[in-house]
Amino acid sequence: MSSASGSSPANGGGDSLPITDPSSRSLALSWFGYHPAEFDETVLLKHAPPYLTQREATQAANEEPSPSPVTPIGELSRFPLELLSFIVQFADLQSISVLRLVNRRMRLIVDDSIPYKFLIQHIPDTLSALKSADATQHFTVDELYVTLCRKSCAFCKDMGTYLWIPECVRCCFNCLNETPHLMPLIESDAKTLFGVTKKVLSDIPSMLSIPGTYGMVELYHGRRFRLYSQTRVVQAAIAHHGGDESYNAWLETDGMKARVAFSRPSRRGISKPTFYLSARFMAATPLPYFDLATRKLHHGLVCRGCQIAMIRSRHLMATHSVAMTIIRKQARMWVEDNLFEHFGECKDAQDMWDFMHEARNVSVDMSREKTEAWLPGFSWLWFVYEL
Ligand SMILES: [Zn+2]
Ligand SMILES: [Zn+2]
Repeated sequence: MSSASGSSPANGGGDSLPITDPSSRSLALSWFGYHPAEFDETVLLKHAPPYLTQREATQAANEEPSPSPVTPIGELSRFPLELLSFIVQFADLQSISVLRLVNRRMRLIVDDSIPYKFLIQHIPDTLSALKSADATQHFTVDELYVTLCRKSCAFCKDMGTYLWIPECVRCCFNCLNETPHLMPLIESDAKTLFGVTKKVLSDIPSMLSIPGTYGMVELYHGRRFRLYSQTRVVQAAIAHHGGDESYNAWLETDGMKARVAFSRPSRRGISKPTFYLSARFMAATPLPYFDLATRKLHHGLVCRGCQIAMIRSRHLMATHSVAMTIIRKQARMWVEDNLFEHFGECKDAQDMWDFMHEARNVSVDMSREKTEAWLPGFSWLWFVYEL
């Protein structure tokens, strides 16, 4: 255990977290904040084809030396540029891809539209994932842009680093893992459990899953599933059945039978609860946060102090609720400034900081490279074991 808790750092500067000196602050962030790639590997990542084709990317690369386009854009020429930009902003992402193919003049107009420009510039992988998931027709440039510029998860106040595709909303890893709202439905279950038809479902935003391994349970799915938001399915089902009263009557009869059959253990393959535990992650893809004030993109950082706290608290995880509180804390994401504020209340991060300075006599201005040279084989895993 750290014996340095509460003691002064060895450099004599008296600094303890949170510190204000820029170089120490930068060192603290590099030690205690990191983006967990292992979380991103549980969800839908970018897949070929990219959002822009190779030809489009080449055209974009050759944009500068080319003469100004002279080919007209038909009836659209009657509109001022401001209005065309407005049209681009509120068009769906799939229509925009088609519009860009009209001619070079149209492509320049689309690419100059500010919200679209930011999407292409900052989240090409998210766009690529949406294209692979056959979901670009459901969401407008503006919807995705607004979501990109919102930091918080739509279901809690934490920073969200994922896009939940069926509703184009931002969510955090913890909510993706456990919030009932973020449990998608596959087509057959949507029809059976809510009494809707394929025609009704065709009017609801949806996405197609990509074969791969998903979720904390790391389940491989070779088939592609069309996934729907359960909330949207319920709304459509109420309209389809002719209102709340008729829908509730259906739920008490046929709906009840369907739910009983649904809850029976599967005789072959994986069980429905296990399937849906990982299906949640099929419907999400990484989405960094774009801060409009600073024009900076944030991918989110977790606190190593909180992660160490989880490892040290394993013996306390006697009940599900205690375990979930501890697990939830270690997966919480922050932007740099907020993480630094968090250090002020994170005892484990403070203990680690003191430990690093006093027990190992590491100066606050010592770089990570110097630390490695001073202590060959240094790694965070080693550090965890030493605690
Ligand atoms: Zn959340
Ligand atoms: Zn912490």
